[in-house]
Amino acid sequence: ITDQGGGRISSLSADSHKDLNRRSNIDKKMLTALDHNSFEVVYQPQLDIASDKVKVYEALVRWEDAELGHINPEELIPIAEENGLIHAVGAYVIEEAAKLAVKLTAEKPDISISVNTSVREFGNSSQMKDKLTGILQETMCPPDKIQLEITEKFAFQAEQEQSIISQMKALQDTGISFILDDFGTGYASFRYMQNLPISKVKIDRVFISSLLTMPKTRQLVEGMILFSKSMGLYVIAEGVETEEQFEALKEMGVDAVQGYFIGTPKKGTEIV
Ligand code: C2E
Ligand code: CA
Ligand code: CA
Ligand code: CA
Repeated sequence: ITDQGGGRISSLSADSHKDLNRRSNIDKKMLTALDHNSFEVVYQPQLDIASDKVKVYEALVRWEDAELGHINPEELIPIAEENGLIHAVGAYVIEEAAKLAVKLTAEKPDISISVNTSVREFGNSSQMKDKLTGILQETMCPPDKIQLEITEKFAFQAEQEQSIISQMKALQDTGISFILDDFGTGYASFRYMQNLPISKVKIDRVFISSLLTMPKTRQLVEGMILFSKSMGLYVIAEGVETEEQFEALKEMGVDAVQGYFIGTPKKGTEIV
């Protein structure tokens, strides 16, 4: 027992040391990677049920490093939020998305790109509004080609709320729309729905993965769909991996689906 205990403790601390080390390397390399174009954006299609057409692609950031390997966004974004580079990462993704949206306009005029944003990017005055307006002007991208996904996983401070709301409203006036992301996973769904100018909700994939195996999840998802629709919102389900899930969600009345069953994230050059 003593040996096992000792072994476990030392391997645990070795692991967390490795984690810390990786974290610190990611932190240190981030700025150079951004400068050297080592970041990339991939795009995942979203199928609109009524028209049976892909109308939206979600932009997802990628970073591949020779030593660190694949650094996924769930690892990268929190570190960027801490070291302040989230503004630069966000600007990079929005710019790439805007450029792609402009390229797509000729051949696929009804397509828009949806970009994930961290509430940190809103800053506390007009940071997000200024950044976004600037990028759209530079790239000559019409604002209605871009949607922003706001996650409810991370809360913002009460004093930030007014600034976020007013920036969102100003952006909405220019034609940008907002999606409440990861719907159902945070604690603030109702508050967000009540106070923020959102027009779509995206039901998180944790609910979709157990949709057909847990009766309670099915009831929950049905409830989320009914409730969202009664608020006049467009409902998206993400993480749809099987035909069975797709059919069930269609029957429940979702407006759009996204997931490996519809399509995996692809490079911009594969879409144009
Ligand atoms: P999310 O917004 O919930 O994005 C969906 C994630 O699920 C993506 O992971 C996507 O690749 C993955 N996915 C898509 N379809 C399926 C499926 O059918 N099954 C399963 N199991 N997974 C699927 P990814 O790209 O690793 O992104 C993870 C999270 O990181 C995103 O979650 C989003 O919150 C955040 N993120 C990604 N790109 C950005 C970005 O540019 N800025 C910010 N602030 N956050 C980002
Ligand atoms: Ca998202
Ligand atoms: Ca998200
Ligand atoms: Ca999600």
